[in-house]
Amino acid sequence: MAVIPVAIAGAPYEVVIEQGALSRAGALCRPFLRKNTVCVVTDRHVEDAWRETVEASLAAAGIASEWLVLPAGEATKSWQHLAQVADWLLRHEVERKDNVIALGGGVIGDLTGFAASMVKRGCGFIQIPTTLLAQVDSSVGGKTAINTPVGKNLVGAFHQPALVIADPAALDTLPQRDVRAGYAEVVKYGLIDDADFFFWCEANATALLAGDPAAREYAIAHSVAAKARIVAADEKETAGVRALLNLGHTFGHALEAETGFSDRLLHGEGVALGMVLAARYSARIGLMSGQDAERIAAHIATVGLPASLSALGLDCDGMRLKDHMLHDKKMDAGTLPFLLMRGIGQTFLAKDVDLADVATFLDGELARR
Ligand code: NAD
Ligand code: ZN
Repeated sequence: MAVIPVAIAGAPYEVVIEQGALSRAGALCRPFLRKNTVCVVTDRHVEDAWRETVEASLAAAGIASEWLVLPAGEATKSWQHLAQVADWLLRHEVERKDNVIALGGGVIGDLTGFAASMVKRGCGFIQIPTTLLAQVDSSVGGKTAINTPVGKNLVGAFHQPALVIADPAALDTLPQRDVRAGYAEVVKYGLIDDADFFFWCEANATALLAGDPAAREYAIAHSVAAKARIVAADEKETAGVRALLNLGHTFGHALEAETGFSDRLLHGEGVALGMVLAARYSARIGLMSGQDAERIAAHIATVGLPASLSALGLDCDGMRLKDHMLHDKKMDAGTLPFLLMRGIGQTFLAKDVDLADVATFLDGELARR
């Protein structure tokens, strides 16, 4: 078991990482609940896999639960479902000092957190992330959002949870493709500023992806500690520190946009390939060695994540991918901050990247055999 403090000024909280934590959710949540009843928001898949366990553990702690079960999938992060969650919480007379529970992946966490930020101008919420991506990334740091017809995550709020409970055993029921996609964000922490952790990933990815509890718990705790450090230093992404978490995301976002934000390429898969492209581009302009860039690509490929742009079979050129990047919400007065690497574990924010050169580089990657 690991307890990681997230030292956000004015809103500190803890992330509890423990094998079997879902069956202790009631006891863990109890100190955060003022009433004997709690509202839980989840999706259909998570309901099927884990509702019984969580409901029983809440009941054993003397807490009755009301459940709102939403459709699974990215489309649920919508205005319509935001209104549905907010109205449902209001009908259940949730008060500002109450905590509601978000049980699920990043979709449920982002949506419920955003609804909580608005209900009565802000009520509390507890994150119980059930995907690897949510456990190592989205449940920590307080970014909440929905998608609109204009783009992904364009409307949202910073709203920190009161508590995060991550149970590595929750991943037992998660499809392997989603586990792998979440693993991309784990590798990201190594590449940002922790070469030793990247080497740990190289040595332990196989065990982790096969479900080894110790490897899972170590990877989650280490990732959460890294994210906690970064968001505590720069909660609202104004100091250029939190931006490091976007490594691989500018390329990845363009690929997700080109594939229509669909099952063709999951977010984590786009990030994995995006990190490979960031490494290769860094090598191209002489920032890092080609050997390090290919070491990163090899690890991504070994775990079964996409490491080759040509293998995606896109019907587009580099210019078109570059144009997708120009619609990135990280655009800042006409320039696009890029995360590049001077080596493994040496990511930095580059502000003077030549986008025409990036397009040429992508043409090369699209044609690469
Ligand atoms: P998700 O919530 O859609 O979950 C993926 C799939 O797994 C869904 O079908 C879900 O129903 C299912 N599922 C979840 N847990 C399960 C379990 N234990 N067993 C069986 N099935 C399970 O997707 P995700 O990858 O967790 O999150 C992606 C979302 O997170 C995106 O909307 C992204 O924008 C957001 N995100 C937010 C942040 C942030 O800082 N807030 C960071 C990264 C990503
Ligand atoms: Zn991400």
